[in-house]
Amino acid sequence: MKIASKSLTAEKLVRDALEKAKHYADYNIFTFLDEEGAIARAKEIDTKIKKGEKVGRLAGVPYALKDNFLSPRGETTASAHILQGFTSPITATAVTKLEAEGAIMIGRTNMDAFAHGSSTENSYFGPTLNSHDKERVSGGSSGGSAVSVALDIVEFATGTDTGGSIRQPASFNGIYGLKPTYGCISRYGVVAMASSTDCIGFFTKNPDDMDLLMSIASGQDPKDMTTLPDYYNEESEQKAHYRIGIIKDFDNESVNSEIRTALETKCDLLKSKGHEIVELKMPSLKYALAAYYIIVPAEIASNLSRYDGVRYGFRSKNSEDLDALYNNTRSEGFMPENKRRIMIGNFVLSSGFYDAYFLKAAKARSLIIKEYENAFKKCDFILTPVAPNPAFKLGEKINDPVAMYLEDVMSVPLNLAGVPGLTIPAGETKSGLPLGLQLIGPRRSDKALIKFSKELI
Ligand code: GLN
Repeated sequence: MKIASKSLTAEKLVRDALEKAKHYADYNIFTFLDEEGAIARAKEIDTKIKKGEKVGRLAGVPYALKDNFLSPRGETTASAHILQGFTSPITATAVTKLEAEGAIMIGRTNMDAFAHGSSTENSYFGPTLNSHDKERVSGGSSGGSAVSVALDIVEFATGTDTGGSIRQPASFNGIYGLKPTYGCISRYGVVAMASSTDCIGFFTKNPDDMDLLMSIASGQDPKDMTTLPDYYNEESEQKAHYRIGIIKDFDNESVNSEIRTALETKCDLLKSKGHEIVELKMPSLKYALAAYYIIVPAEIASNLSRYDGVRYGFRSKNSEDLDALYNNTRSEGFMPENKRRIMIGNFVLSSGFYDAYFLKAAKARSLIIKEYENAFKKCDFILTPVAPNPAFKLGEKINDPVAMYLEDVMSVPLNLAGVPGLTIPAGETKSGLPLGLQLIGPRRSDKALIKFSKELI
């Protein structure tokens, strides 16, 4: 990462980033630009450098913050109407760690409201456009973050990945995107979607930047009881040759042919470097999408119950009593996709249907976890597509929730199992759309995964 050197001031880096952000305004990337704050922070860093004081590893590096990270700078809205007007009194642990190293947030990025979606079209602010084709979606839910990096506005951006929201937009825009092992980075101060699958991660332009960010952000946080002790910064064993698993069950007609070719090309590259390709059968993965769309809405229904018009952001006017206030605020404040998930979640948790849906999905999840454990006895990493198709057209799937959910078929299994996945760029379609693949590793293999991704360049 370009650390502010003597010839390159933090102020110049930040001003350039802000300039570019404005230049690309029509992509609808940012929900808020912090011009004043960012420039003031850059000046502070330049003063420190001039005085010869110690600065952090990200000193003067401009970055973009997904709109679901809490920080007092700008409203944190998760791109939802119901959070308009909410300024957070607290700061997410991940943000605190990045900024302690001198990173400078230039703005907040657009996303599907509450991170529900795969295209950023569910945002209250409207969709973010794809960096390579303005008629196509940026992916989601972290579409704004992905495009801010792909268009080279910032050096990196934060994201959250509950079922693919970092990996899929990274793949749609031709950049790196990491969903770490569950519990690697603190979720404290990040708007909750589904607490058992939510992960914090990053978008970068290369593996080394990803490694640096991970070494800064990972580690145990007393404010998030699910965080793991810092394994990321421990030395990991390096092998000369790796075994890479290919999931045969995915190698079918439903995957776009150019993505299949990209996968074959990367396998040939790995073989030419002396790595071994192993074929895997993972039949339980076909239940992952169904299990995900039961477990995740159940957790969403519970996490979103706190938005009542009393405590945060938007409140509907003209309500005669408290019940009407709750009802009107939630009716007007949530996007249709948020409401759909609240309805599904409450349904699958209801006493008559819990055993038939939630419990079954939980069992399927256990099978999926075991299947990954067995797979990693046969190989070190797995290489698969991120999504069945490259970026689709704006409006193409927005009125068909099931078609939209099907886009997540290859990304959600990792979240159910808690394993890490890294999107790597893998060329372009004939029409110039980015293609991405994901490299998957066992839990806590994040560092080795990032290192190994260099073999695929
Ligand atoms: N597209 C998936 C969903 O809609 C994943 C979203 C996410 O990872 N936040 O649930």
